[in-house]
Amino acid sequence: MENLKFDAIIIGGGPAGITAGIYLRRAGKNVALLEGEMFGGQVATTSLVENYPGVGAIDGASLALNMAADLRKSGATIISENAVKLSLDGEVKQVETKNYILTAKAIILAMGVRPRQINSTLEKKFAGRGVSYCATCDGALYRNKPVCVIGGGNSAFIDAKYLAGVAGSVTLVHRSEKYRVSDNVKTEAEKLGVKFLPNFCLTDLIGDNHLEKVLLKNVLTGEIKEIEANGLFIAAGRVPNTELVAGILDLDDIGYIKSTDCKTSIDGVFVCGDIRTKELRQIVTATSDGAVCATLATMFLNKR
Ligand code: NAP
Repeated sequence: MENLKFDAIIIGGGPAGITAGIYLRRAGKNVALLEGEMFGGQVATTSLVENYPGVGAIDGASLALNMAADLRKSGATIISENAVKLSLDGEVKQVETKNYILTAKAIILAMGVRPRQINSTLEKKFAGRGVSYCATCDGALYRNKPVCVIGGGNSAFIDAKYLAGVAGSVTLVHRSEKYRVSDNVKTEAEKLGVKFLPNFCLTDLIGDNHLEKVLLKNVLTGEIKEIEANGLFIAAGRVPNTELVAGILDLDDIGYIKSTDCKTSIDGVFVCGDIRTKELRQIVTATSDGAVCATLATMFLNKR
């Protein structure tokens, strides 16, 4: 294990963590950012971003790459490993990864969220063989083939609309009739040929080597429906990546870190982005949090 010492350690390389890194570097701090998977978090798997000022319309993967490039330019140390253990008590805090023990006086938690699974056994059975959580990453595999999307929120509609331009047919399956999107979003999806199957939930996945059919059950009538689908895109919301801090910090009922102002109950530990309790989880609020966290961390470090 190699020991490394920093002023601040940021855990997570989504828009929130990246922004915190850039701001801390501008404040002259020695910063490490840990990202064990891909930069950008959920943004990297978004087909189109149209609501982040200054970038027009951009695909999420490109925006994530641009952000990561800015972080690299800032001179932050990037460690491509996940944190596996945190010790947050005391003045000097410790973050362990597979190969490093990192220490710093300020820690910024920016681990973000991951897609929610709806039936982990079924999803695992066809993982990489039909089940996907990223339409932009995997949609092209289903050119001219039937696919299903599960969910009734913004993500499900964005995925369904994207897939409508690629797949042979798209059926949006939702467990109720209440969609969490505005009427015009639904109309746009209809115009693109997306078919709607409200009040159905997933009961089984069928196929030999690869997914072929999806078995659904009507939650009101009990009717069983079998539909052809080579791809099943799950867009049923997100869950926070807070396992590392469970029992250390206060979490709400869903598992988000409770914080209204990017501070936590521990001095020197700050939280930014989708992982904290907040009204609106968007790229713009994540980058805003990142800047706030970095500024709070800088003030905290300068006082010491
Ligand atoms: P969401 O709004 O929480 O929607 C999740 C959907 O999945 C809901 O329709 C929910 O059904 C359904 N669902 C949850 N658990 C399920 C289960 N076990 N089985 C079947 N269905 C299940 O999540 P999201 O669409 O990922 O969006 C998250 C947040 O990001 C939202 O605030 C959203 O507006 C925002 N967002 C914004 C944009 C944008 O502005 N460009 C893009 C994407 C997301 P119920 O409705 O029955 O609970």
